[in-house]
Amino acid sequence: MLHAAVTRPDADELIGRFYTCWFAIDPPVRDLFPPDMAGQRALFGQVLDFVLGEFIAQRAEEPVAFLAQLGRDHRKYGVTQDHYETLAHALYATLSSDLSDEWTDALDDAARQAINFIAGVMSGAAEAEPGPGRWGGTVLEHHRVSRDLAVVRLQLDSPLDYLPGQYVKVEVPQCPRRWRYLSPAIPAQPDGRIEFHVRAVTGGMVSNAVVAETRPGDRWAVSSSHGALEVDRDGGDVLMIAGSTGLAPLRALIMDMSRYGVNPRVHLFFGARYPCELYDLQTLWQVAAHNPWLSVTPVSEYSTDPPWATDYPDVQPPRGLHVRQSGLLPEVVTRYGGWGDRQILISGSPAMVNATKAALIAKGAPAERIQHDPPFG
Ligand SMILES: Cc1cc2nc3c(=O)[nH]c(=O)nc-3n(C[C@H](O)[C@H](O)[C@H](O)COP(=O)(O)OP(=O)(O)OC[C@H]3O[C@@H](n4cnc5c(N)ncnc54)[C@H](O)[C@@H]3O)c2cc1C
Repeated sequence: MLHAAVTRPDADELIGRFYTCWFAIDPPVRDLFPPDMAGQRALFGQVLDFVLGEFIAQRAEEPVAFLAQLGRDHRKYGVTQDHYETLAHALYATLSSDLSDEWTDALDDAARQAINFIAGVMSGAAEAEPGPGRWGGTVLEHHRVSRDLAVVRLQLDSPLDYLPGQYVKVEVPQCPRRWRYLSPAIPAQPDGRIEFHVRAVTGGMVSNAVVAETRPGDRWAVSSSHGALEVDRDGGDVLMIAGSTGLAPLRALIMDMSRYGVNPRVHLFFGARYPCELYDLQTLWQVAAHNPWLSVTPVSEYSTDPPWATDYPDVQPPRGLHVRQSGLLPEVVTRYGGWGDRQILISGSPAMVNATKAALIAKGAPAERIQHDPPFG
């Protein structure tokens, strides 16, 4: 019954009523969430669907791990122990009112147990976590490296520990409470420096603000890290495919590898729409020039630059390095074969990742050798 309530077609309205109730009981909570709640409602609906489904099936292991992570993550929003108490009250009040016609003692017991489980695991994990929930950072540099692309370098107030290839959530002052995922483009630095590469997507609120409005001195907030993109240094040669700023996590992995004298061979395809948008080629070529295990093939969808590109000219490869190929990444990469013997890492927009993965599998690459980040937005 509880699970059915959060999976029925009008579940979004039920979850909307829960938030209205929570904000009425505990008004300061409203300030922790973005002005537009649609994404948050959808996310909380997915959480309830998963947790209640598993809870009813009497499987606790995965929901506990999931809720504990969620609790630790929510510290970055400023969620405190008191907020979990009011969350539990609001969720109970909303469900019991919504299901009042069917509400029995057994359902009341089940609802209390499930709600205490959700709030208890999240708050317990949050309280047990020793480190900070968020890191403040000051923008040192903002480079508009193409019309729609910016490289942003920050000094964090204290160093953030993350693995190369992982991603974090970021809040920028132009868009308070609208946290977005970004992948650091360099490995973790003991002095707290960090670098992000951001592409403005059409109609995208945060990415356009970062590319067009970010200034040195801006204060950002950064969350702890997630993700498991990695190179197994004993796992054979590597194929990396980056679309636009999808380069960031692969670049962090390459920079980390360059600390070692011996590495598996890495072939990186770096793609963009126009030649002038291959914004980081100079750095990649420099790394390749000093690390013979790295090959870089630039790929652009169009072979010539658009009229606005005069400020961002195309760059030519040093003698002996791969020249630019024209075409879409899935086509160009599979022209070279199926890459079935490689560990394969793909990073970019969900559409590019899906198309490239499908093309590689069609050419014989085993799906289990292909890694990419989850495509959530
Ligand atoms: C694990 C992970 C790591 C990421 N790392 C980076 C990174 O290092 N650099 C970076 O620039 N971006 C990165 N992103 C994408 C980023 O988190 C945002 O989704 C993106 O910047 C759009 O945010 P927005 O607020 O501008 O758009 P929103 O206002 O959230 O969305 C506006 C519109 O843009 C569309 N949209 C959202 N994201 C994309 C996308 N990636 N491509 C095309 N259309 C999109 C939406 O569907 C919507 O229609 C990453 C995403 C994930 C999941």
